Amino acid sequence: LFNKDLGQHILKNPLVAQGIVDKAFLKPTDTVLEIGPGTGNLTVKILEKCKKVVAVEMDPRLAAELTKRVHGTTDQRRLEIMIGDFMKTTLPYFDVCISNTPYQISSVLVFKLLEHRPLFRSSVLMFQREFALRLVAKPGDSLYCRLSVNVQLFAKVEHIMKVGKNNFRPPPQVESSVVRMEPRNPPPPVNFKEWDGLMRILFVRKNKTVAANFKTDTVMEMLENNYKTYCATHDKMIEDPLDMKTKVQMILVMVGMAELRASKMDQDDFLQLLTAFNEEGLSFL
Ligand code: SAM
Repeated sequence: LFNKDLGQHILKNPLVAQGIVDKAFLKPTDTVLEIGPGTGNLTVKILEKCKKVVAVEMDPRLAAELTKRVHGTTDQRRLEIMIGDFMKTTLPYFDVCISNTPYQISSVLVFKLLEHRPLFRSSVLMFQREFALRLVAKPGDSLYCRLSVNVQLFAKVEHIMKVGKNNFRPPPQVESSVVRMEPRNPPPPVNFKEWDGLMRILFVRKNKTVAANFKTDTVMEMLENNYKTYCATHDKMIEDPLDMKTKVQMILVMVGMAELRASKMDQDDFLQLLTAFNEEGLSFL
C-alpha cells in the first residue's frame, strides 16, 4: 500500500499529530506550508487552526486521497495541494512550516526552508532522532557537528518531543523527534560559503586542535590559492616567499584559538576566527 522509496510512514497517533500542531502556535491568519501531507492526518488538524494550507505532496495517489478527504467540507477551498517534489518546488509565501517527511531529505529541507524569503516565523519538523539531536546540540555535546553550527547560525532550534516508532504505520526503523526551528530575523550578516568553508576545516576532526586541523596540505593549498586571487583582485603584492603555514599560525595565536577544539567552540568563537582570517585576506570560499 505505501511506497517505501518515498518514506511513507503515516502518523497514526492522533495525540502526536495534535501535539505537533499545538507546538506550531498557529494564528487564524497564518498560511501554513505542509511538506509531505500523505493522507492528511496532520493537514486536517492544521486547517482547524489557520487560514490556509499549501501542501506539497510528491505522490499523486496520496494527493488524490487527501483531496477526497476534504472534499465537500469547509476546508476544501483553504487547502491547496501542489503535486511534486518539495526539493524542486518553488515555495509559495508561508508563515509556518509543518513537516513529517522522509528522513533522506532532512538536511536539504532545513536549508531550503532557511534560504526562503521572506523568512517564515516558525517551523515544526519531524526528523530521525539523531538528526534532531544534531540540530540542537551545543558545544561539548557528543553530537555537536557542522550541521549544528550551520543551522544554529541562522535559527533557534528546540527539541520539543520524542516520537516512538509505533506511532507510525508502517513503523520506521528508527526513532523520531520533533523540533521547532525559528529563523533569526534578520539573519546574521555572515557570508555562509565562507563560514561553511571554515567549518569544514574545523569539523574534519572536531576534537583535534584548530592549529592541527589547519596544518594539512589540502587546507594550506586552498588558502594559498584563495590568497593569490585575493591579492590579484586587491592590487596587493604577494609576499615572496609566501609562508602560509606561519601566516595561519600567527592568526590563530593572535586570536588565542590555536589550542581550542571545534567540539567546544561556540558561534561567537567561530565568528571571531572567521573575521580574523578575512581581515588578513584569507578566505575559505
Ligand atoms: N505527513 C504525513 C503523516 O504525518 O502522516 C505523511 C508522512 S510520510 C513519513 C512522508 C510523506 O512525504 C509521504 O506522503 C510521501 O509521499 C511524501 N514525500 C516524500 N518525499 C517527498 C518530496 N520530496 N516532496 C514532497 N513530498 C514527499
